[in-house]
Amino acid sequence: MDAAQKLKQQVRNEFMEYLTLHKHRKTPERFAILDHIYSVRGHFDMDSLYNSMIEVNFRVSRATLYNTIQLLLDCGLVVKHQFGANISKYERAYGNENHDHLICTTCGEVREMTGDLLTPAQLKKIRKFKVGYYSTYIYGTCSKCIHAKRMELRKLARKNETKQNKSNGKQDKK
Ligand SMILES: [Zn+2]
Ligand SMILES: [Zn+2]
Repeated sequence: MDAAQKLKQQVRNEFMEYLTLHKHRKTPERFAILDHIYSVRGHFDMDSLYNSMIEVNFRVSRATLYNTIQLLLDCGLVVKHQFGANISKYERAYGNENHDHLICTTCGEVREMTGDLLTPAQLKKIRKFKVGYYSTYIYGTCSKCIHAKRMELRKLARKNETKQNKSNGKQDKK
């Protein structure tokens, strides 16, 4: 069994345990959704998940999908990110390297950056807590938005210049 299969088996067992403990039905759809989520990388929302399941010919109702995601969130196999007031994305909880999210507060773009922000020494300092993984949010402005803002300011400056030149011209005539 390779690492990816092992991980899928591990999360399947965890989900099974959770469903048993909470007396939820163990339907094949629920396990298929979990399996699918652990087959794709990166962030997703309800629509993109629904569409990617249809792409692999797996028909599931949006209600089932929604309901299963709630269960997966509840048992910690899927995490929800709130990237902005109106942007929430999901992501599988295990099998992702520690990663950081660079969030542009202007356009809402989210970029992932891997590379451990915390050194092993810093992780050791966290006491009475076993760290499974971590992910951070770094808010700021993306290069596209910085560029767009600069262009806009330049345009406004140019407009003001011509306005001033015009009014200066009028004054000269007086
Ligand atoms: Zn992420
Ligand atoms: Zn941006």
